[in-house]
Formats: sequence, C-alpha cells, structure tokens
Amino acid sequence: MVNTKSRQFRGILLYRLKYRESDMLVKFMTATAGKKMFLVRRATKTHAPLASVILPFSYGTYEGVLKTNGLSYLDSGNQVHNFEQISNDIILNAYATYIMGLLDQALPDSVADQHWFKNLYYALTFINNGFDPEIITNIVEIQLLPLFGVAPEWHHCAACGLDKSVYDYSEKYGGLLCAADFALDSHRMHLDQRTIYYLRQFSAIDMKKITHIQVNRETKKKLRQVLDKIYDSSVGINLKSKHFLDQMDRWKLD
Ligand SMILES: [Zn+2]
Repeated sequence: MVNTKSRQFRGILLYRLKYRESDMLVKFMTATAGKKMFLVRRATKTHAPLASVILPFSYGTYEGVLKTNGLSYLDSGNQVHNFEQISNDIILNAYATYIMGLLDQALPDSVADQHWFKNLYYALTFINNGFDPEIITNIVEIQLLPLFGVAPEWHHCAACGLDKSVYDYSEKYGGLLCAADFALDSHRMHLDQRTIYYLRQFSAIDMKKITHIQVNRETKKKLRQVLDKIYDSSVGINLKSKHFLDQMDRWKLD
C-alpha cells in the first residue's frame, strides 16, 4: 500500500543536509513512527515557506506524508519551537549534536520508540535550561549502551553474581567486578568508588526525574574516560561531533 496521506506528527529535528540544487534532507525523530528522513523541496531558497520550521534544534508538531520506505515529505510545521540556548551556544550545540548523532546510530529507522523520543526531548530540554551538558551526555551514553548490544551488569558482580560494597569495572566481564574478584581481570579499570557510584546511578536514573546532580571535575573526567573506553572497544562508532567534543575538552585543559 502506498501511503500518501498527510498526517500530523510530533518530531524533534536530528539533522539537516543540503540535497541537490536547493532541496534539503531533514531527519526527524518522530514520536509515533521513529526516525524518518524527509525531503523538503526548495528549502534553501529565500523565503522558503518551511525554512523557519526546519532550523537546527527545532521540535514540535508537523504535518507530512510519512513513508514506510524511502523519503517522507514535510508539508508544514504547526507548532514548532526551538531549543534556543542550544542554538546560540557552540558548546551546548556540540553536546546536543553528539547526543542526537548517538541516538541516530543506536536506533533503527522507522521503528517507533516512545521511550527514546521522550528521553531525547528531556535531554535537550535539560541542556537548553542550563543543566550540566556533560552529565546529561553521560546519562544518555550509559542508557544507550544496551541498544548498541552492550549491556553492562550494573547491579551486582558480573563474575560471582553477589551484591558487594566495593566494585571496579571490568570490560572482560562486562560490568561490575567485586573486590574479591579483582584478580580475575588484570585489565580492570581501577576506578574509584565515587565514579562507580555515578555509573550505577546514571544507568538507572529516570531521565524526566533528573533534578540536581553535581559531580566534581575529577569524577567527571573519570566518567568521560570510562565511557570513552567502553564506546571505543565495545561500540566502535565514529562521530564527528564526538571528535569536536574531545577537542573542546583539550582546549579546556590548555
Ligand atoms: Zn564477585
């Protein structure tokens, strides 16, 4: 069946690409149909009617033809907002772009995922409202791991299965390793208990209930290192936005 009926949908713009002479490809995370790529004709022309509703970091209610396969078509934007602080700040912009890039890699196209549609909305809203973007990014990274086929054991020791009070993280065992089992993995990450605490918290936290999390500079650095290690060795994706964040990190240190 060919689907040509225009209908309303809620969407968050993930990214846009110039296409042909004056058209644009715009990818949305939609609430009910998952990620969809839309063709917007003559979008780059001056006074293009849809230009204002497909600005980077837009979200809201749109109308269009959602195709099961191939490109969808955008007809109009009805109630469209913009994450303004993110749009206006190169650093927030970089974190938001990375988060959306990760989500684009983790989720299949055209499969509805209400949970991640909401989580993306909350993540961007928190960043837009001034919440620490590094922490929001860490939470998204940890919670996306199962979608990349990596599901670390954060509840108890991955080797003996027991609940203990002191843990390290072991890639070999895919999760926490209790002190009694440290000898099983000489390449364990040698993490301090504060970092372990936040890793466990972030893996379980309900994104919409985040209120106030303050993590010191040192622990944030550790969290960044662990997540980079897990992503490098077990996920293996290569995002330009992540390289940009890494560069920003280096500038901070200089
Ligand atoms: Zn153990």
